[in-house]
Amino acid sequence: MKWVHYVVALTVCLAVLAVGSTSALAASAVKKPSPEKVMALLKEGNDRFAAGKPLHPHADLARAKQAAAENQANYAYATVLSCSDSRVPVEMIFDAGIMDIFVVRVAGNVANVDEIGTIEYGVAHVNTPVVVVLGHTQCGAVTAVTQELQGHGHSLERNIPPLIAGIKPAVRRAMADHPEVHGDAVVPHAIEANVWQSIEDLFMKSPVCRNLVNGGVIKVVGAMYDVGTGKVTWLPDANVEQILKKVEASPNRAKNPMATGGASH
Ligand SMILES: [Zn+2]
Repeated sequence: MKWVHYVVALTVCLAVLAVGSTSALAASAVKKPSPEKVMALLKEGNDRFAAGKPLHPHADLARAKQAAAENQANYAYATVLSCSDSRVPVEMIFDAGIMDIFVVRVAGNVANVDEIGTIEYGVAHVNTPVVVVLGHTQCGAVTAVTQELQGHGHSLERNIPPLIAGIKPAVRRAMADHPEVHGDAVVPHAIEANVWQSIEDLFMKSPVCRNLVNGGVIKVVGAMYDVGTGKVTWLPDANVEQILKKVEASPNRAKNPMATGGASH
């Protein structure tokens, strides 16, 4: 997409959004790459990392100084929702650096209100053209929920159950879709289902994200990181389109894109 198209798309987006949060968008509506170009950047970066040939771009003090003096919204190209797992260092696996990726990390890459609010900031104020929901192999959070639903649960610290509540429907779906699979063999299926669950939760609760996807301004994509090979596998776009269609037909989806009366809704 040429920049003029981006500006046109952004204008459509501005029309969709209510007045009040548009200043950051207007101030930085320049030279952001298209979602397709961003996908190429992410793929090339991960290819370099997984090949053991990273370039470590934007990783020096000069870039930090530049970042302090400029608006990240003119540079950061992707918002990534990832797990907190120490084996998934987001900038590193995409061979990216300072002011490149707007990162949300939380156990199990769940999309609860804080994560969704952060993603909304990423797309509406940092203006990233792509949102990646990144699951990973051997995810401990998804494994724990799977074992709990299989009757092998452990007692959990008090703040963990609400954190992982969103993972349960994903595990149940994985079990229903793969009745022939048992025990820990369910986990890889559950990890992928959990990526789709987070995307569904994001769309259900974020009209802004739905509007930006529908307007062609941003792309939301699912991906899976292999902690042993360093490779990111990109999951089918068709699933994202199917989830968005399902959410748009749901009477339970959030409808007003903007907060009203301050921080409430
Ligand atoms: Zn994890």
